[in-house]
Amino acid sequence: MIWLLWSNMVYMWRSWENVKGTVLYVAADNLAAHSLAGFFENFMVDRFCRFCMATRSEMQATEVNSGAFEPRTIDTHNQQVQEVKQDPTVAKRYGVKGGCVLTDSLEHFHVVRGYPPDILHDLLEGIVPVELSLCISDMISKKYFSIETLNHAIKTFEYAFHDKTDQPQPIAHGFSTKGTIGGNGHENWALITLLPLIIGHKVPEGDNAWNILLLLKDIVELAVATKHTEESVHFLDCKVSEHRDLLQTTFPDFRLRPKHHYIEHYPEMIKAFGPLSDVWTMRFEGKHKFFKRVIRNAHNFKNVALTLAVKHQKMMAYYLDTSSFFKPSIEMDKVTTASITSYPENVQQVFCQRVPQLTSVLVASSVYVDGIRYCADMIVAVGSCAGLPSFRQIKQIVALNTEILFVCKEMTAWYHEHLRSFELICDSSNPSLCVVQLKELNDVFPLSAYRYGDNLVVTLRRYILC
Ligand SMILES: [Zn+2]
Repeated sequence: MIWLLWSNMVYMWRSWENVKGTVLYVAADNLAAHSLAGFFENFMVDRFCRFCMATRSEMQATEVNSGAFEPRTIDTHNQQVQEVKQDPTVAKRYGVKGGCVLTDSLEHFHVVRGYPPDILHDLLEGIVPVELSLCISDMISKKYFSIETLNHAIKTFEYAFHDKTDQPQPIAHGFSTKGTIGGNGHENWALITLLPLIIGHKVPEGDNAWNILLLLKDIVELAVATKHTEESVHFLDCKVSEHRDLLQTTFPDFRLRPKHHYIEHYPEMIKAFGPLSDVWTMRFEGKHKFFKRVIRNAHNFKNVALTLAVKHQKMMAYYLDTSSFFKPSIEMDKVTTASITSYPENVQQVFCQRVPQLTSVLVASSVYVDGIRYCADMIVAVGSCAGLPSFRQIKQIVALNTEILFVCKEMTAWYHEHLRSFELICDSSNPSLCVVQLKELNDVFPLSAYRYGDNLVVTLRRYILC
């Protein structure tokens, strides 16, 4: 069991004042959140939701966006906690075991608005592996492909750039009996993202099990988006609803999990907390990896907390003493110079508008901007066309004074529903180049283009506002 506290406690020290903060919210998985918040940790209990009063049976028949479920409010929750303290037998009626130590201790924190949902455990390590198992089993039974074919395709897929780091693992035999494909959050995110390109050609268009996975991919993209508008939140609401309908009609015997219900709360949670990728536990799981590795290697279980605390302090002391610990915002690799005359007229004009009388520019093989790596052949989303993002392919990275510019190939994009991907078309005999500034990117995360048959396609990991 892991629980992690995100304490947004900020002390701003100035010479004349001391500004105090408080705990804004707790980022935790459901078990840890319920434990700290005073709800039941057992999700088999009838009132299993920390956001509303839905019961397990009502959840199967009714959606959150129907408005049928009474939300937990500060007043009703305080009342319930008092009742439970006086008579513990009513605990199950409310799904509340007792008070929350943070709510009791802090003036501006309350349990009903202090525990946001966690995309990592709800979706990437929850619903995604379960539904992948359900739908892949169905498609194997329809003989679209075998598990061997799928695993071969997963293994031999040519993962590029950032996708290489988190490439999915082959699915273990017996996944169908377990009801989940397992895997960690990163691998499952990569698999649901890239599955259309890995095996989409084997599946007939319109297949229901496939469409469930495609809708789930849409939900993941929207849930992990770093920016939202009213429209994107409404779009997520529609996708969650559509996904639920198709799942229940295609697999009538499938019982929705509590996590399906939590996902139905996401639109209202985004309105309350902002993008859910700002409040997830992914970063803390990364930190936790260090401690798991240390205790495995230490072979010393006499005082685990002390061992871990000492090792962690030593590690931090080592890094803080290293001059390269705080990296500059921009780092360039393998820098060479290129004559300005080697660029087309329109690109030269952009350069000269910034630096008149320019004769050469610095060209980097790759660049890190705030920790995000860009290099040639990556795809970036810039601008929009008919409500969909437009894409460019980076050909060169140029530094002009302190500014990073991408010399990019212009591309036309067509949306491919069955693959939930964009087909990219470029006039290869006469490619037109353009200059893109970092601030023009719709999304700072670059994408990888893949060959799909004779076509070049790109698929999104995150929903892009444009
Ligand atoms: Zn609920």
